[in-house]
Amino acid sequence: MARKKKKWVVGVDLGGTNISVGVLPIDGGPPAALHGEKTEAARGAKFVVDRIVSMVNGAIDTVVKDEGGSRDDFAGVGIGSPGPLDRSTGTIINTPNLGWRNFPLRDLIANAVGLPAVLDNDANCATYGEWWLGAGRDVDTLIGLTLGTGIGGGIVLNGKIFHGASDAAGEFGHMTIDSTGRKCNCGNYGCLEAYASGPAIALRAVEGIQAGTETMLPELVHGRLDEITAATVYEGAVLGDPYANEVMKETAKFLGTGIANLINLFNPQMVVVSGGVTRAGDHLFGALRAEVRRRAFKSAADACQIVPAQLLGTAGVVGAVAMFKTETYGAV
Ligand SMILES: [Zn+2]
Repeated sequence: MARKKKKWVVGVDLGGTNISVGVLPIDGGPPAALHGEKTEAARGAKFVVDRIVSMVNGAIDTVVKDEGGSRDDFAGVGIGSPGPLDRSTGTIINTPNLGWRNFPLRDLIANAVGLPAVLDNDANCATYGEWWLGAGRDVDTLIGLTLGTGIGGGIVLNGKIFHGASDAAGEFGHMTIDSTGRKCNCGNYGCLEAYASGPAIALRAVEGIQAGTETMLPELVHGRLDEITAATVYEGAVLGDPYANEVMKETAKFLGTGIANLINLFNPQMVVVSGGVTRAGDHLFGALRAEVRRRAFKSAADACQIVPAQLLGTAGVVGAVAMFKTETYGAV
């Protein structure tokens, strides 16, 4: 007798601050039983694993209750986590945010839940989610850029994530855009992340204010400069503050430089940009597209759309499910 077709896959998006869990129909669709909790990594690895397991079990129970069926209808669990990690062993090699080293996350979750599991990098998952069900659902070759506390990325070539020789491909945040530039958290100088991550945008804005530039930004934080974040800068730009606009324009220039490099390397059909910075809308994308046109090969730039992500807050969960499907069945 043929094995009964599984109906559902669970997706886990583990971040340094939050954990999101949701369940997708195996053929795609909006996540069901979507649920988020704080990671609270300071309480230790066992605490975080137990929390993930209880969120996964809770999501399975919710779907069984709402849709009928049983646990047998679940194929497995896809997990997206900060890296670097080793997919073949399902081990986190080292995550500064969580404080884990050589940690067998995949098998701990699979054993506790009683379902097979797959582990991949969080930015790869977010990119793959956008490719499967988001902004990139009609293209084959796509580059994803996730802008937040750090800058991550993913590469989809002909419908599959390209992992590289040691699962480290797509670390676009650490592409050098100025060989003698600002020091990056990774130890190198002039990385894209040192200019265009959320904290880097805020730092550049504060440096200008301390140098005496006229701007409304201090008013937006009641004079407390240490409370200026990238979001404050977008807010100022949207309100028409010339200095905030200038900082956004420079950010677009740095990002456009990085994206032009990627377009020249991969000739993708699409670059999808996700993260809080996309809230700046045309204040960012207009200038960014113009910078790319100045720097990339014309034929490559003409063939590439640069767009904001569509799966806001769910790309990681959706992509973790897509990753599980590809690893288990060979394709999404
Ligand atoms: Zn770096």
